[in-house]
Amino acid sequence: MKTFLFGVMAGLCALPVGAQSAERSHVVVLHAARMLDVVGGRIVAPGEVLVQGDRIAVAGAHVDRPAGAEVIDLGDTTLMPGMIDVHVHLFLHPGAEDLQTVQESVPERTLIAAGAAKADLMAGFTAERDMGSEGAGCADVAVRNAINTGLIPGPRMRMSCNAIDLTGGHEDAIGYNPAQKVLSNADYADSGDEIVKVMREQRKGGADFTKIYETGRDSFRDGVFNTPYQYTEAELAAAVKEAERLGGGVGSGRGVAVHATGEPGTGYAVAAGVASIDHAYQLSEATMRAMKEKQIYAVPTFAIAEYFADHAATPERAAHGRAEQAYHAVEFKKQLTAGVPMAMGSDVGPFPHGTQARELELMVEYGMKPAAVLQADLLNGAKLLGWGGQIGELKAGYFADVIAVPGNPLEDISVTKKVGFVMKGGVVYRRN
Ligand SMILES: [Zn+2]
Repeated sequence: MKTFLFGVMAGLCALPVGAQSAERSHVVVLHAARMLDVVGGRIVAPGEVLVQGDRIAVAGAHVDRPAGAEVIDLGDTTLMPGMIDVHVHLFLHPGAEDLQTVQESVPERTLIAAGAAKADLMAGFTAERDMGSEGAGCADVAVRNAINTGLIPGPRMRMSCNAIDLTGGHEDAIGYNPAQKVLSNADYADSGDEIVKVMREQRKGGADFTKIYETGRDSFRDGVFNTPYQYTEAELAAAVKEAERLGGGVGSGRGVAVHATGEPGTGYAVAAGVASIDHAYQLSEATMRAMKEKQIYAVPTFAIAEYFADHAATPERAAHGRAEQAYHAVEFKKQLTAGVPMAMGSDVGPFPHGTQARELELMVEYGMKPAAVLQADLLNGAKLLGWGGQIGELKAGYFADVIAVPGNPLEDISVTKKVGFVMKGGVVYRRN
């Protein structure tokens, strides 16, 4: 596979192995039976994209074929923009409930993360937001930079270094001999001032944005969901203000994202003006209204919950996981009715990298039309990552991040699990 891949890359673009973006002079025409018009929620047939260097020059049913252009005929497939996953963990692999973050060194985890980045790219995910390196500090910045310089293949990345959490909070290493001083997978901060201090250290280390644990641990009993909040609204507002000072305004991809499963933490985070509410099992009417007003995205992360239920240690735990997912599915419908904007984030890492298109299927299963799921993934995902107007559509001037899937994703969303062609920045990484 590796030899073949590099052969394709070198053959198409005459570039050194792994180069990040195609040469300006290189012109490619992609042709397929169909192409997805994301905004219109419709299929164009046939579909063609003229790629010049790392950008799309023009896309439509028919494009000009300049002399010397290389034509790649993808046959009976649908061209669509590279997918976007706004909640991943490159530094986790299956078995997240084990001690991998304690037992594996940061260098070892970084090499594994490089493999994860490749697996996600090959599955058609050309842009991602990594929601915490889980104890690997700013090693994620090294992975992002290695991708950007062409050293390793991977999606365009937004990185956060570690998440931020309370002492004894949701992500702390609780349940160990205190004398062993087992570290949290997150950076500690116990006040607004401490959050700001940690943010400054992380941004110095190269972080793009900030991830904060705002709720947990959750309990779900007799159909009632409960989760304690971690930071007050004022503490989160201090974080948002600091992110803004550092250039983290709306749509910059440099703001604050929270792990927040329910009230009152979800409400505090929305009032503080975070960029996204990740997990979002339960939102009050007021919180849903505010999210619609402020265009704060909910990221439901159904795929991870399904995986944990399917791989639970006991039948009781599996049943508990399924009941909680069913509860979330009901709340999700209320959120859709209330007009809460959605983005697609799978929380991949604890389940195998490259399999996260399952999240799109689940969003359809729980009530969204395929076109709406693709718009949430591609349009909202691009905005959330600060790449609005640059990725998420097949449009002149956008980065040439293009994938091909069999069939029609508007009729059968599961085709997003069968990506057979991947181009990122005009470079072909996969061609089946
Ligand atoms: Zn996560």
